[in-house]
Amino acid sequence: MALTDAMTSPSRLSALPVELQKDIVELLDIPSKLALRITNWQFSSLIKPPTHQDLLAAERSAWAMTRRLFACQDCIRLRPSREFADAMKKGPKGLNGKEPHKRFCIDCGLHPKPRTTRYSPGSEMEVMGRRYVICKFCKMYTSEVGCVGSGLCGDCHASCGCQCGPTSVSMAPRSGSSAKKRKRARQREYEDEWDLPECYDEHFWECYDPAD
Ligand SMILES: [Zn+2]
Ligand SMILES: [Zn+2]
Ligand SMILES: [Zn+2]
Repeated sequence: MALTDAMTSPSRLSALPVELQKDIVELLDIPSKLALRITNWQFSSLIKPPTHQDLLAAERSAWAMTRRLFACQDCIRLRPSREFADAMKKGPKGLNGKEPHKRFCIDCGLHPKPRTTRYSPGSEMEVMGRRYVICKFCKMYTSEVGCVGSGLCGDCHASCGCQCGPTSVSMAPRSGSSAKKRKRARQREYEDEWDLPECYDEHFWECYDPAD
């Protein structure tokens, strides 16, 4: 059953006996369940919070795929594509990879839970095709990257005396027209990305604490 069937009349649904509501809810797919869950307290108590497994199933639904939503193993939310490093959305951690369950969002990577290792100072990553670094010196997370592999932000890189010169990667022009073309193609890809509507609030998913 699709979201719209239930969502057009959540009030009529809530007027039904609870047992019947439960039966109907069971027929809903995961995105619909979760959407219904946040419409009112009645449904939020009726419908269990999503587990990481639920979200891993949900991220493969057409609904999540058109919106480019991905599950994070740490905050147990479906978050928009831009909240993840590119490497988290392809290869092993991609939708069709072997370990999408190991994917975590940038926020969780920067602020890991105790006893978990995520991003550490010196980590470099690409987000929506743009390079970021967690500077190993000043610990800042920034797109002002020193030279690739330096693990430094532009400022720290400039003052460390690296022989490659002060130009940061983001400022250095890529040589060759094919690189330019690639870049343009990549930009187009991201512009095409489904613009999340005003009504999408990822905090909707903040309803489950895996520590519970
Ligand atoms: Zn997260
Ligand atoms: Zn720095
Ligand atoms: Zn350098």
